[in-house]
Amino acid sequence: MSVSEFELIDRYFRRGGARRDDVAIGIGDDGAVLRPRPGHELVLVTDTIVAGVHFPVTMSAGDVGYRALAVNLSDLAAMGAEPAWCSLALTVPQADETWLHGFADGLLGLAERFDMQLVGGDTTRGPLTVTVTAHGWVPAGQSLRRAGAGAGDGVYVTGTLGDAAAGLRVLVGETECDADSGSALTRRFLRPEPRVALGQFLRGIASSAIDVSDGLAADLRHVLEASGRGAEVDLARLPISASLRACERGDAAIERALGGGDDYELCFTVPPGRESALGAWRAQDGVPLTRIGTVVARPGLRFVEAGGRVVDRHIAGYAHF
Ligand code: ADP
Ligand code: MG
Repeated sequence: MSVSEFELIDRYFRRGGARRDDVAIGIGDDGAVLRPRPGHELVLVTDTIVAGVHFPVTMSAGDVGYRALAVNLSDLAAMGAEPAWCSLALTVPQADETWLHGFADGLLGLAERFDMQLVGGDTTRGPLTVTVTAHGWVPAGQSLRRAGAGAGDGVYVTGTLGDAAAGLRVLVGETECDADSGSALTRRFLRPEPRVALGQFLRGIASSAIDVSDGLAADLRHVLEASGRGAEVDLARLPISASLRACERGDAAIERALGGGDDYELCFTVPPGRESALGAWRAQDGVPLTRIGTVVARPGLRFVEAGGRVVDRHIAGYAHF
């Protein structure tokens, strides 16, 4: 690596977000040295985002930096983990200082907000690709998993669904709607809010959890397959924002809510005896929770229409291959 590239790391990444006292050695040596937390297990997640595949090439540097970490925080949230450290493998076409400055601000600003420290990484030249690896803590044995949903459990989602997918369509000019709704949806795509506090709250309450990155239908199916169960989801209960309704009419909004990716909400199941525990979350005014259906013994995901008719709609969700 050339001297100037090393200086760039020093200038833009060395500050590393939050300062944590469980970091013995951070950026600057051959490796990071980190202190384990007694009685806990370490959760490790990693996600790569590629320009033109996971985000439009026109996206700003700050939004790219934010997104690279947010998608990983969302995975930590889905595991019930408390964020601690991350590393960054960054491939950029050139060392553009303005771009790096914006990128580091987007990423490290989010890291700081979740008390997370950037402790290392690698920087290479090539088509814009960002890989973040993130680590978080859970008390031993308490991580949330995809497996564990039981017949009779309530199926819940956070926030609203389909906004990010619609926001992407607005961004690339495939949908037109009023300016307010359009910018609300666009923001949901550009700045997804990882549900980190809720993930930790759900330890000991949820029987399974996943984050919604590829669309509710696809992601809920992962939970059901891992759990060996099925579910009936009530289409009338899907949380759909006023902005999405304003931009996508009727059935299109429902299709977006079921099949659109990039929302980074959590989908989780709760046994009947523990549903009342969600009251404490609601009382503290956290992100809204909506019960959208019920886990059943018969495998498969089915949708219940407003009139009570059960349909086997096929919603693909996002697939790379
Ligand atoms: P080496 O050649 O030994 O792999 P590097 O010159 O690649 O070392 O990295 C020097 C230091 O800078 C290391 O601590 C590494 O973790 C850190 N680093 C490199 N790139 C990044 C990056 N994009 N973000 C954060 N830390 C980085
Ligand atoms: Mg290196």
